[in-house]
Amino acid sequence: MTQELPAPTANADSQEYWAAARNDRLLIRKCRSCGKTHFLPRHLCPACWSTDLEWIESSGHGTVHGFTIIRRASLPEFATRVPYVVALIDLKEGPRMMANILGEDALQTKIGDAVEVRFEARAEGTKIPQFVRKV
Ligand SMILES: [Zn+2]
Repeated sequence: MTQELPAPTANADSQEYWAAARNDRLLIRKCRSCGKTHFLPRHLCPACWSTDLEWIESSGHGTVHGFTIIRRASLPEFATRVPYVVALIDLKEGPRMMANILGEDALQTKIGDAVEVRFEARAEGTKIPQFVRKV
């Protein structure tokens, strides 16, 4: 990688999520009221509106729900990265999250592929949960 990619911006709802990612841990929110998990991290459950939530650690395993290949960078920092894969990942624990598929075989991504989380270093010591294909 020739240029450092931008750091994610944490907010009050996602601060703990990004802090865990720095330590190679993927956290998701789980509702203590209805038991459902969700992503992105929010201060209330999108299923039942309860604010009684907890953080749980994801196994980092999931499957590709859908994907696209980015061939034109939307920001100059990503110009050296194209073409790259942006995918919707269905985590084993339930929620669906968006991430890149990394690795030599990323462009061979197919719907239904089994994937596993990897933590990609970004600016300012941050890391972003991304995925690689398990083939
Ligand atoms: Zn709930």
